[in-house]
Amino acid sequence: MASLRQQIATTALTLTKFRELMKRMQENRPQDDLTIVKKAYDYSLKNHEGQTRASGDPYLIHPLEVALVLAEMKMDPIAISAGLLHDSVEDTSVTIVDIRKEFGEQVAHIVEGVTKISKIDFATREEQQAENLRKMMLAMVDDIRVVLIKLADRLHNMRTLEHLPPDRQHKIAEETLEIYAPIAHRLGMGKIRGELEDLGFRFLDPVGYEQVEKSVNARRKQGEAFLAKMEQIITHKLKEAGIQARVESRIKRLFSIHKKLQRQHISVDQVYDLCAMRVITRSLQDCYAVLGIIHNLWRPVPGRIKDFIAMPRPNFYQSLHTSVITEDGTPFEIQIRTEDMHKMAEEGIAAHWKYKDGPVSAQDEQRLAWLRQVVEWQQDVSDPAEFLSTLKVDLYPEEVYTFTPKGKVVVLPRDATPIDFAYTIHTEVGHTCIGAKVNGRMVPLRHKLHSGDIVEILTQPGHKPSRDWLGLVRSSRSRNKIKHWLNLHQRERAIEIGRKLIEKEARKYRIALKEIRDEDLLKVANSYGLGKADDLMSGIGYGKYSARQVLAKLLPAGATPSIAGEIEAEGLTSQPGAIANVVRRVFGDHNAITVRGQGDMLVYRARCCNPIRGEGIVGYITRGKGVAVHSVNCPNVTNLLYEPERRIDVEWARDESTPTAYPVKLTVYCDDRFGMLKSITGVIGDAQSNIRNIAARTSNSQASVEVVLDIADLKHLEQIIAGLRKIPGVHEVQRLQKI
Ligand code: MN
Repeated sequence: MASLRQQIATTALTLTKFRELMKRMQENRPQDDLTIVKKAYDYSLKNHEGQTRASGDPYLIHPLEVALVLAEMKMDPIAISAGLLHDSVEDTSVTIVDIRKEFGEQVAHIVEGVTKISKIDFATREEQQAENLRKMMLAMVDDIRVVLIKLADRLHNMRTLEHLPPDRQHKIAEETLEIYAPIAHRLGMGKIRGELEDLGFRFLDPVGYEQVEKSVNARRKQGEAFLAKMEQIITHKLKEAGIQARVESRIKRLFSIHKKLQRQHISVDQVYDLCAMRVITRSLQDCYAVLGIIHNLWRPVPGRIKDFIAMPRPNFYQSLHTSVITEDGTPFEIQIRTEDMHKMAEEGIAAHWKYKDGPVSAQDEQRLAWLRQVVEWQQDVSDPAEFLSTLKVDLYPEEVYTFTPKGKVVVLPRDATPIDFAYTIHTEVGHTCIGAKVNGRMVPLRHKLHSGDIVEILTQPGHKPSRDWLGLVRSSRSRNKIKHWLNLHQRERAIEIGRKLIEKEARKYRIALKEIRDEDLLKVANSYGLGKADDLMSGIGYGKYSARQVLAKLLPAGATPSIAGEIEAEGLTSQPGAIANVVRRVFGDHNAITVRGQGDMLVYRARCCNPIRGEGIVGYITRGKGVAVHSVNCPNVTNLLYEPERRIDVEWARDESTPTAYPVKLTVYCDDRFGMLKSITGVIGDAQSNIRNIAARTSNSQASVEVVLDIADLKHLEQIIAGLRKIPGVHEVQRLQKI
């Protein structure tokens, strides 16, 4: 039981704070009815009675400070009341039911959300953390005020962190830097983010913090004098030009300096933008006018002018940035923005938050849309650690700004490729993307996009994503969309391949697949411990079971392959590796013609000349079908010169680790004699080639044999042709360009 004297002291202290709160609210939102806030204050005063903080202060100071931060964000009375009550369910005997009865559904709902988040133990294990982040996101999507209260709560806890033991300090500081500061950043709340980061840094790495602080302080006087001089010059020039604007200058935040030192491995003396200046104007036009005035005063550093007004960051930050070099050679950064933009940069989502007035601004809607998207994406991700890593990419965007041909801005993570761009436009555009034009030029899909690129995506109906794309995309959205698609379709394709392999095998016996009864198929599936015929087919497709063995179980006893059937199936089933070939062909024919630099584009061999590895080749961009690769000897190539801008340089991929096969058609002119076919197939077999098709015509004891072979490269082909020419009775061997 607290003494009367203590009680009086507590009441006096909290009452002063409360009056400050009321005053702030009346200033910021004069129309609001504050009855509920007064009631919430009385209620928590009663419930937190006798409780103290680690600092020795009465506990109520904490909810009051939290409410004050919220009042500064210009939050509505509901949010302020929830702020005052945010710890009552967790730390007092009050329940949510009590709160609902006293303060209504909205306040209760928000307090419940805050309480839930407070119960989350943000463990250091990544997996756990991802799950917690997910919960937090869900709470945010539900009512953003929950998260604003949580941020205000964390801010006050960080401001008073010195009263906790070091291990708690460390844990809370870490959590602040990893979770709360990024969320504040993403919500555009620059001011809170900055303070959270500096406090987090101070408690997580006290030695590092002190070092940076010390060296910054050593330069502070000099820096401030410099800024004062610059400010004077700019103010004078602005007045001359008749532009109304205010100039703010500051030494950068310690945490952002620290990050810069780490990133660039430099010392504080080498940080040239330690001093920063802001010009805050009355109108958008004035921003550009001020930029002109500044560039007239000092020389701008090339490549450091950034127009975030025309191209806002994903968190809707807007500003012009430029770095200039003063007469004495000192570079420094100037940001130019309007008052509105400044407010958005400092307060973010809170700047526009007028919950009471119904629908929020379009930008706030977009922020919420982002949150909902994050939650939606993570539902496709089964591995929490991956969710966290993708979220980190999304939370620390180092983005590029690209355009659609119609001039719409598409913001992508750094190193994003046209595939990312395509998936941002639409999932279906992503799936059917076969190539892209950047600034009017064809580029491969692995091409990295840069700010300012105009990107036009080429699609082809029915085209499908490939697993290789996962290595090319940078945004979590694309990655998840591709993975989702692959998971869905891989089995289907395996089943399809399985069926094809069985069909091929069955053809040897002159049996069509439809002659095999379903129940027999099921019986065989069961014998492999499988429940469905499709499982059996996909097993064959994945290469788990051999088509030949499965078919053997399906055939009537004593069935033998017919000779005609065997010849028909020849070349696909009689050689080891044939199955792999079929699988490769079905799984992605365009992979078999990897052309360096263009490997990930839809590249195909032109049917008129069918070039093979080793031959001189030239690429030609077709309309909507990707790049056709021709042999330089192809007669059509000459015709291509009519449109030379559609020619593209291509070369064979150097990666030969995955052997590829190209069908090549040969005509062998020879004597029609017994054993000739055996000699021909013998030469081909010895050269490890696969016969796809063979046909012969005879007249007057002369024969022409047309054979379609799998050829690895030019050398391989030349070896086979030489071998064929050595056969006695062979007169000539010709390659046919057309197959
Ligand atoms: Mn609290």
